[in-house]
Amino acid sequence: MAHSSDAAQSADAAGGGENVRRELPVLTRCFQAKRREHVLVEQAPHMIIVYALRDGVIRYANTAATLLLGRDLTELLGSNIFEVLAIGEGAADPTETDPNEPGLLPGEYAAKMPDGATHYLDVRSAPVVHQGERCGHVVAWDVTARVNRERDLIRRASYDELTGLPNAAHAYVYLEQSLRRLERSGTGCVAVILIDLDGFKQVNDTHGHQVGDSLLQETACRIRSTTRDSDLAARLHGDEFLVVQSVANPIHAAYVSERLRTTLANPIDIDGGLVVKVSASVGVAVADPGTTDPHHLLQYADHRMYTDKQRRGIER
Ligand code: C2E
Ligand code: C2E
Ligand code: MG
Repeated sequence: MAHSSDAAQSADAAGGGENVRRELPVLTRCFQAKRREHVLVEQAPHMIIVYALRDGVIRYANTAATLLLGRDLTELLGSNIFEVLAIGEGAADPTETDPNEPGLLPGEYAAKMPDGATHYLDVRSAPVVHQGERCGHVVAWDVTARVNRERDLIRRASYDELTGLPNAAHAYVYLEQSLRRLERSGTGCVAVILIDLDGFKQVNDTHGHQVGDSLLQETACRIRSTTRDSDLAARLHGDEFLVVQSVANPIHAAYVSERLRTTLANPIDIDGGLVVKVSASVGVAVADPGTTDPHHLLQYADHRMYTDKQRRGIER
């Protein structure tokens, strides 16, 4: 029996060897295909990271990840993905069924680089099982240039290039919001103070646009430094400025407008020894919690400002 069993075994072994010989090319092709896939992941142009859902620790990072995050592989492996991307708990997906194993919400994240710079990454993530462990598979790419371009556009759409103050569109939105807050709180007032320089055109015509621009910049500076940081100071257009502020009552708004008038009447030292002196016409309108129309408020302030100009015999 023993003899016949040995014979069977050696026959099996011979058959097994035959099988291996037959399957070897298939296995080799599989192995080569796997290697090719690995190379595709390793050399993908996008950052690829696999991290353990349990503790956020990075288990795999491709070459693009090391380049994008400015860290070498040894530093990345074993680090926590939330710390490396500096994305905080806010990035954890709240729809995840297990709160101890949070996935990443898709979106744009600001990642702090080792040199202190901020890069913006567009991040997508999906759950995977990696070497028997539940992991998050993260693909991300750098969108810093686009985000900066968009921010620049938003800044240009909301701020005045010459003075750096918020522009008319920004001020209008701010005023609308202030009136809504006032309506909700039911106490206090919102004051709008419209300021128009007297004699600006003359300065421009006599001394040129560069001096005119310096005058506007200095005016902006003075308005900004004589009102609170929590007040809005904006340049509407030309030599017209606006302050929007929350005050307890209309008398307080009148204090501020007088302070602005005094400040702006002080002579201005322009570069090159030229001193110019202008004055400002000021119009104040105060909204109480019943006021909801910003347009009407601005119209009233404009009317008051014009009356102020006329009273002092100044042409608009
Ligand atoms: P005050 O200068 O006569 O101002 C009276 C009130 O007007 C202030 O009461 C405030 O409600 C309002 N007010 C005046 N200026 C501004 C402003 O630029 N923005 C806004 N949003 N509101 C303004 P408050 O806050 O109780 O202050 C009482 C007094 O305390 C002020 O009387 C002033 O003498 C002094 N004070 C408060 N903050 C400052 C400040 O930043 N600088 C200076 N120099 N004095 C201040
Ligand atoms: P801030 O609140 O941004 O105010 C900037 C400037 O606006 C003040 O510069 C002042 O010229 C003017 N201002 C603001 N509120 C008032 C006010 O109620 N009355 C008068 N007369 N002027 C006002 P300033 O005085 O050099 O103050 C610089 C900063 O110091 C203020 O910045 C604020 O952060 C702080 N501060 C000064 N005094 C007070 C105060 O009495 N109370 C509080 N809470 N902060 C003050
Ligand atoms: Mg003017």
